[in-house]
Amino acid sequence: MSAAGRVVVVGSLNVDSTAYVRSFPAPGETITAHGLRVALGGKGTNQAVAAHRFGADVELLARVGDDANARLARDTLAGFGLATDGLGIEPDAPTGVALITVADSGENTVIVASGANERMSPAVVAGARERVADAGAVLTQGELPVATIERIAEVAREAGTRFVLNLAPPVEVSPDTLAAADPLVVNEHEARAVGIEPGDAIDGWLAAASAAVERGLAQSVVVTLGAAGAVAAERSDADGRVTAWTQPAPEVTPVDTTGAGDGFTGTLAAALAAGHPLVDAVRLATAAGALAVQQRGTVDSYADRDAVVAAAD
Ligand code: ATP
Repeated sequence: MSAAGRVVVVGSLNVDSTAYVRSFPAPGETITAHGLRVALGGKGTNQAVAAHRFGADVELLARVGDDANARLARDTLAGFGLATDGLGIEPDAPTGVALITVADSGENTVIVASGANERMSPAVVAGARERVADAGAVLTQGELPVATIERIAEVAREAGTRFVLNLAPPVEVSPDTLAAADPLVVNEHEARAVGIEPGDAIDGWLAAASAAVERGLAQSVVVTLGAAGAVAAERSDADGRVTAWTQPAPEVTPVDTTGAGDGFTGTLAAALAAGHPLVDAVRLATAAGALAVQQRGTVDSYADRDAVVAAAD
């Protein structure tokens, strides 16, 4: 894979334990689950797997403990063919864990114990300067400490590497950090949190994304809209005008939407790093998201490059 296809993902790694229950326990009550699923998660990790499935040469920088969950994470990543040498070990912190319950009603509860993810300090990024400089894109998410996200934006700017920011969850980063994002990737809820306010339906989102780029909120903006696909806006290099467009999603029957947003974002970063213009990258990412919702699971639901390209045609 060429240097243009390299993506550095700086992000979270969790092991998700999901218990399937008839209904949630009351305080003090013990209940028996009718199913259990243990799987690799964390937005950074999910997006790294999606970028890798699209064919990017991915480096995942994350922190784990020295425990059984770290071994599970390493084995799972290695099973996908991803390098694991970017996983730093924090001997006195547990690997991050998400404790999820899903009731028969479809509702869920999630408790995230961040553990080693909290050790993702700005120093982690400073040590990765050269690798960022060699990459076609550096990708991060809102699950890291704010100071670390801000440092990644600075390192990307100094290195001249494209900075892709998925502000999920929508933490408060500096205006300079947002302004460096190319693109800022958000879902509808996260968009509202950063002041991208829609009017009516898709046209409202188009106008809001366009206005956000016009006022310099970010270099470019992508808003994912679930089954409706995505809208995007960017400033043209040629004449400086802002253009915005809609990317409909393929019509599919969703089975499990978990991790669709991460599948979208990882694919988007990989396509940009490979040199695709934003309009193509959004088309490919939308197809990847639509493929992900047709499979159960998160990292297991990401299709490979050929399937994504076929679905995007
Ligand atoms: P999640 O938190 O569930 O991962 P999200 O809120 O971050 O998702 P969405 O906007 O729901 O992100 O979905 C991301 C992308 O996944 C969409 O842009 C689309 O490409 C695809 N997608 C999601 N739901 C559907 C659906 N029902 N049909 C087709 N594509 C879908």
